[in-house]
Amino acid sequence: TLSDRLTATFKNLRGKGRLSDADIDATAREIRVALLEADVALPVVRQFISAVKERARGAEVHQALNPAQQVIKIVNEELIRILGGETRRLRFAKTPPTVIMLAGLQGSGKTTLAGKLAKWLKDQGHQPVLVAADLQRPNAVQQLQVIGERAGVPVFAPAPGNGVGDPVEVARQSIEHARAKLYDVVIVDTAGRLGIDEEMMKQAADIRDAVRPDEILFVVDAMIGQDAVTTAQAFLDGVGFDGVVLTKLDGDARGGAALSVAYVTGRQVMFASNGEKLDDFDVFHPDRMASRILGMGDVLTLIEQAEKAFDAQQAEEMARKLAGAEQDFTLEDFLQQMEQVRKLGSISKLLGMLPGMNEIRDQINQIDDRELDRIAAIIKSMTPAERRDPKILNASRRARIARGSGTQVSDVNQLVERFFEARKFMNQMARGAMPGLPGMPGL
Ligand code: GDP
Ligand code: MG
Repeated sequence: TLSDRLTATFKNLRGKGRLSDADIDATAREIRVALLEADVALPVVRQFISAVKERARGAEVHQALNPAQQVIKIVNEELIRILGGETRRLRFAKTPPTVIMLAGLQGSGKTTLAGKLAKWLKDQGHQPVLVAADLQRPNAVQQLQVIGERAGVPVFAPAPGNGVGDPVEVARQSIEHARAKLYDVVIVDTAGRLGIDEEMMKQAADIRDAVRPDEILFVVDAMIGQDAVTTAQAFLDGVGFDGVVLTKLDGDARGGAALSVAYVTGRQVMFASNGEKLDDFDVFHPDRMASRILGMGDVLTLIEQAEKAFDAQQAEEMARKLAGAEQDFTLEDFLQQMEQVRKLGSISKLLGMLPGMNEIRDQINQIDDRELDRIAAIIKSMTPAERRDPKILNASRRARIARGSGTQVSDVNQLVERFFEARKFMNQMARGAMPGLPGMPGL
């Protein structure tokens, strides 16, 4: 399996001090084979491998991780990125009812999913109605009725005088019905065929035009492997869809379908089904799927812990310097502090609510990524002695640094000025003149 292979690959890497090009190439070959074996589509594999290679070659050497852990981290992050990063939520209509239409091949799990979705929405306080717009198979309507009953959700089905035999008409009427009965979500179950079929696509497109869904969900069986890509593409062209639901993840599906469909269609997997019961259902978590594909949950946790421990160690060092003499705080610390402050940017609002934090907030607001790059370039153009003691930076040194970093002397001046200000500020804090926050360097 993919996990076994990756485990084997990373075993080979373990114990080496640094990632060489040969290491990276060997790893990439293994990952390639493994992904193909897991039924990931070839274009996706190619893209994935090149992204991993590029990142592995870049300067992302985290001091807390060994080379094997670094590769795993990169592979994991790229998997999550392709799987969609954050989970997308269902879009609800501004004016109810919200219409959700399900499309997919026969047997993909649409009808089962309709019930799961209905129950899930009902548990959240919605009042959904299920619509039987699959009139292809003799038992389809009855199947939905049984599921609806189990979910405790009403089913709108064709009855005499109710557009018998025409799924488009049933779907159209269901919207009126929902408005009249004040149901706020309409879930339209549709027919599928065993293979991609023009007539079925046309019917699905007609139902779509009749109900104008807020969400069309493409339902795909995770077990169909490589075929997931052609099927998804056909439904995207024939009907269009906004999100994907992966079913039968309780089987020994290898996760490859999730990766391929998300990548090829640019649509996120939103839900995952993992069983026949109504509760075997959850919103899709890209990070969990990535970890499932990698089969390395434990390793990933270890990596996270190693990184956290490293950050904590750095923070402690910084705190020690703050407590010490003024001269201990160097330009390198300044740069490091800025990077950390950047990371904390998202809580700048929170900081603003505390007394004495306005200066820090201003600092955060002033730092954008480009500026951080420029500051890093300037500091890296300094000699170690200059970084330790910026007081020695006379005009000719500043001119040299500006040339070396591709900046203006005024940029260098500004940076040095800001450094002295920050150092002064930090010394005040270290002497207890301002409230500090535990565990945050410089705050
Ligand atoms: P439809 O033709 O797309 O409506 O598919 P159905 O909802 O009728 O499902 C086809 C078969 O797959 C049924 O026997 C379901 O019980 C089964 N099924 C659906 N979803 C899952 C799932 O997540 N896991 C498993 N193991 N079986 C499922
Ligand atoms: Mg069905």
